Amino acid sequence: AKEAGRGTWRRFKTSMQTQVESRFELEGELRKGLESQQLRLYLQPKTNRDGLVYGTESLVRWEHPEKGLIPPDRFIPLAEDTGMIIPLGEWVLKETLLLMKEHPHLTFAVNISPRQFRNCNFVEQVQQLLNETGADPKRLTLEVTEGLLITDFNQSSKRMLELQKLGISFSIDDFGTGYSSLSYLKKLPINELKIDRSFVDGLPDDSSDALLVETMMAVAKHLELLVVAEGVETQEQQAYLYSVGCNLHQGYFYGKPEPAEQLLARLKKT
Ligand code: C2E
Ligand code: CA
Ligand code: CA
Ligand code: CA
Repeated sequence: AKEAGRGTWRRFKTSMQTQVESRFELEGELRKGLESQQLRLYLQPKTNRDGLVYGTESLVRWEHPEKGLIPPDRFIPLAEDTGMIIPLGEWVLKETLLLMKEHPHLTFAVNISPRQFRNCNFVEQVQQLLNETGADPKRLTLEVTEGLLITDFNQSSKRMLELQKLGISFSIDDFGTGYSSLSYLKKLPINELKIDRSFVDGLPDDSSDALLVETMMAVAKHLELLVVAEGVETQEQQAYLYSVGCNLHQGYFYGKPEPAEQLLARLKKT
């Protein structure tokens, strides 16, 4: 039994070692990928009640020369841990801002990770990129998560107010998945809630998802916040969301994320 136990441990250690090694390898490759322009900006449309695309969300992909297109879940956490999220996030923001001038009728949303938001140069960086690109901050939304806002509330609210003064809006991403306290919603300059996909998945049949979504709608209405439903995949979900007053949708039902130029070219034609 002892022998078997040790064998198990050895196998475990080996698999852990490979994980550490491949992580280390991936880190070097990501650094290189960032420098040699392997990142790709994808956009997913946001649609209103009239079925019109009023805006987009930027979602980054990594086009690895051998491994192909790598989704953000596989490298954003790593970038966050290593600090590479700072140059990576700056790249996403700048690429997005560069598109804004040509598409004056669209709003643009960018995901901001906690480490990027907490970086002491963040406000300055945003301001500089706005100046450099001449993009209109009134059409820019930053998507942040609840955790980020609550961990260092005073610092976050100060920073958000500074960015709000520039004309930028804030959206709470993955709303409902994080913290139980809602009090921060009325203390911070928030414009929008994004209902996480996990609550939309079970609609309309799952009664607890339906109840949660209706509750979020009531909270948002009371605080006069916009609500975007994420991960809308079916017409039934669309109809249910409309019936509870949620009119702004994002999801495969309307369009998957696709290369920025591709989506924008199509939107320009129509
Ligand atoms: P998120 O911000 O919650 O983005 C929504 C995710 O749901 C995206 O995954 C999107 O492709 C996916 N999605 C949208 N509609 C549907 C649908 O109808 N069905 C299904 N099954 N999925 C849908 P993606 O692009 O893989 O991004 C994953 C996460 O990576 C994002 O979650 C975001 O947290 C992070 N991320 C992506 N780009 C960036 C970035 O530039 N910066 C930072 N900090 N994070 C990013
Ligand atoms: Ca998001
Ligand atoms: Ca989400
Ligand atoms: Ca997210």
